[in-house]
Amino acid sequence: MPRLIAASAPSNAYGRAVRALILNAAGELALVDDQPDPIPSAAEALIHVKRAGICDTDLQLVRGYAGFAGVLGHEFVGVVDQADPELAGQRVVADINIGCGACPRCSHGDGHHCPDRTTLGIRSRPGCFADRVAIPRRNLVRVPDSVDDDLAVFAEPVAAALHVLDELDPRAAGERIDVLGDGKLGLLISLALAASGRQVRTIGHHRAKLELAAAAGVAATALEHELAASDQRSSAVVVEATGHPSGLARALWLARPRGLVILKTTSAAPIPVDLSAIVVNELRVVGSRCGDMHRAVDLLAQQRLDPRPMIAATMALAQAPAALEHAGQRGVLKVLLRM
Ligand SMILES: [Zn+2]
Ligand SMILES: [Zn+2]
Repeated sequence: MPRLIAASAPSNAYGRAVRALILNAAGELALVDDQPDPIPSAAEALIHVKRAGICDTDLQLVRGYAGFAGVLGHEFVGVVDQADPELAGQRVVADINIGCGACPRCSHGDGHHCPDRTTLGIRSRPGCFADRVAIPRRNLVRVPDSVDDDLAVFAEPVAAALHVLDELDPRAAGERIDVLGDGKLGLLISLALAASGRQVRTIGHHRAKLELAAAAGVAATALEHELAASDQRSSAVVVEATGHPSGLARALWLARPRGLVILKTTSAAPIPVDLSAIVVNELRVVGSRCGDMHRAVDLLAQQRLDPRPMIAATMALAQAPAALEHAGQRGVLKVLLRM
């Protein structure tokens, strides 16, 4: 009887090929079946991706934003491989920014701004539009059973949405937040801030999307109405989440003197804007990116926030290029990938 030669591959079958959606250096998308299986370092866990979300940032990356090439994707929920010594079988989401752990920023607990950070599917690290992905264990956040996969996959954008709260003056907690934009980013920010107990108004121009906000208990106003209103410059806080180059100028127009404008839109192209409105009205303009994943998972677990009505389609990873195209069409909200 032939003797089995001791397998060189570990029990979790590292070394297999995985299916993945790749953005190449020429800006072309390719679905490949032979991407090498990620090999986790001692500090990393191998994760079997269950669901991934397509974000406007992914669409921007395809247009050249951040000069990224590799496996796309940064919003996911997955299960840690059974061979993992610490987290085997746990369902997790992840903080997508991986700091070096040693620099002054990382030492101050701010790995999000580590100059040597990598970011899942955005900066120097393969993303999650793949069967499997390797991520440092310290970045993982366990998902309670009460939060299903379709809800958990929103954790990363919900964390980014809630990060808006970190820019607000705690003494003005009763102040209304105006969210400019009713796309996936704007709606999710509106829903998440409202679920956190803040007074929110969504300003957009898609009726169906504004109705979605209204159904979640958020005040909604048509942009045309707002632009025609005589009481312009009435917003104490404007979150610019249009995803459109024209959004910043509109946000500056809405903000009242000494108001706060929080920028969420990223753009592959430079955005021309007249800065004098900032000077004359003494506005504060701040950028806002990723947030605390624990806070996001906690809010989802409290069942106070349900962004699932935003899901427009769930498609197989094998259909990933078509899914990205669908996600980029006007009026389409969240498109998920199923692994
Ligand atoms: Zn995203
Ligand atoms: Zn660092």
